[in-house]
Amino acid sequence: MTNKKPLHTPSRTIMTPGPVEVDPRVLRALSTPILGQFDPAFTEMMNETMEMLRELFQTNNKWAFPIDGTSRAGIEAVLASVIEPGDRVFVPIFGRFGYLLTEIAQRYGAVVHNIECEWGEVFDPAEVIAEMKKVQPKIVAIVHGETSTGRIQPLKEIGEACRSQGALFIVDAVATIGGTDVKADEWSIDALIGGTQKCLSVPSGMAPITYNDRVERIIIERKKIERGIATNEDMQAVRTRPNIISNYFDLSQLQDYWSERRLNHHTEATSMLYALREGIRLILEEGLEARFARHRLHEKALVAGIKAMGLTLFGDEKSKLPTVTCVQIPENVDGESVRTMLLNQFGIEIASSFGPMHGKIWRIGTMGYSCRKDNVLFTLAGLEATLIRHSVSVKSGNALQAALDVYEKEVIKIGN
Ligand SMILES: *Cc1c(COP(=O)(O)O)cnc(C)c1O
Repeated sequence: MTNKKPLHTPSRTIMTPGPVEVDPRVLRALSTPILGQFDPAFTEMMNETMEMLRELFQTNNKWAFPIDGTSRAGIEAVLASVIEPGDRVFVPIFGRFGYLLTEIAQRYGAVVHNIECEWGEVFDPAEVIAEMKKVQPKIVAIVHGETSTGRIQPLKEIGEACRSQGALFIVDAVATIGGTDVKADEWSIDALIGGTQKCLSVPSGMAPITYNDRVERIIIERKKIERGIATNEDMQAVRTRPNIISNYFDLSQLQDYWSERRLNHHTEATSMLYALREGIRLILEEGLEARFARHRLHEKALVAGIKAMGLTLFGDEKSKLPTVTCVQIPENVDGESVRTMLLNQFGIEIASSFGPMHGKIWRIGTMGYSCRKDNVLFTLAGLEATLIRHSVSVKSGNALQAALDVYEKEVIKIGN
C-alpha cells in the first residue's frame, strides 16, 4: 500500500548550466525496451555511438566511449587511469572545476602544482606554458569552459607546448562539447572529457571521453584483469607499471568492454546509452557548425537583453563562455529570492554560483535543447518582471526589444 500519488514533474524552463532540457526524441529513446549488454543489437549501438563520438570530439582516436556516472566520473576515469602515485600534475585554476581536477588528481596520489588567476578571467597561454616549463609535469589538466565563472580558456597553444615537452594534456570540456568548438586532435589534447547534461542535452548519468594512443600506452602497461574473469593468458601478461587504483574507473578494463573482446566489467547502463546515442545523432543531424552558430545567436540575444535591462555582466568579455552568461546581482538584491520567484511564478530556473561567487552572480545557461528563442525571450521577460517586484529600477521593456533586434538582424537559418 502506498499513499503516494503517481509521479508528477512540473513543466520547467531550464536555463542553468546543467542539467538542461532534453529533446523529446531523447526522452523517447530512454523509454524503449531494455536490451542485454552483449546483445548484438546493443553492441551495434555501442559501435555507432563510438563512431559518432569521434565526430563530436573532432578526433581520429580509436577510443571514444562513455563512462557510466556523471561528468566527474569521466574526469576520474581518465585521471585514475593515467596518474601513478607521486606523479607531478599541473592544474591551472580559473574557477571551481579547476579545484575539482586538483582534488581528484590528489586523491590518486598526484603531487599537484597549481597556479590560479582571478575568477572571471582566464590565463594567457604563455603564462601557463612558462610555468609548465618550470614544473616539468607528467600531466597538464585544465578546464575548457569553466561554468562557475562563465569563462573559456584557449587551449591550442598550451596543447602544442605539452606535446613538444612530452606532457600529457587532459581537458575537461564538460561544459563546451556540443555547444562550441572543441577540437581534440587539432589542439593536441591527449584525453578529453565531455558531459551529457550540458550542451549534449541528454540526462545526467554518462560522461563521454576520448583518448589517444599516448594515453592508451600508459594504461595498457597498468592493465590488470579481475581474477574471476581472467583467462590464463591474461594471468600471465606482465605488467610494467603499478595497476590502476580504481576498479570502476579502470580504463584498461573498460576499453576491453568497448572493443571486439567485449570483456565483462560493470553492467552497462543500456537505457542511458540509448539516450546518448540519440542525443549525439541529433547533434550531428543539426551539424556541428550550425549548432555552434545557434548557441552564439541565442547567447547574443540573451546578452543584449540583459544589458538593455540595465544589468551588468560578470567577468572579462573577451573570454566569455558562449554557453553560460554570468550576471552581476544588483546591490541590495537578494539573489536567491529572485531565483525563487522566477521558479515559483514562471517555472524558470537559473543558477547561482559557488564559493566566492555565491550571492554575487546569477548564471544563465544557453545549452543544447534549452538554447532556443522562446526560452531566451521568456527568461528575459520573467527576469525583468521579477526584478521590478524586487524594487530594482530596470529599464522596462528594453530587454525584449533588444533581444528581438538581435533575432531580426541575424540572418541564420536555424530552427526556433
Ligand atoms: C558540470 C561540470 C562538471 C561536473 O559535472 P557532474 O556531471 O556534476 O559530475 C565538471 N566540469 C565542468 C566544467 C562542469 O561544468
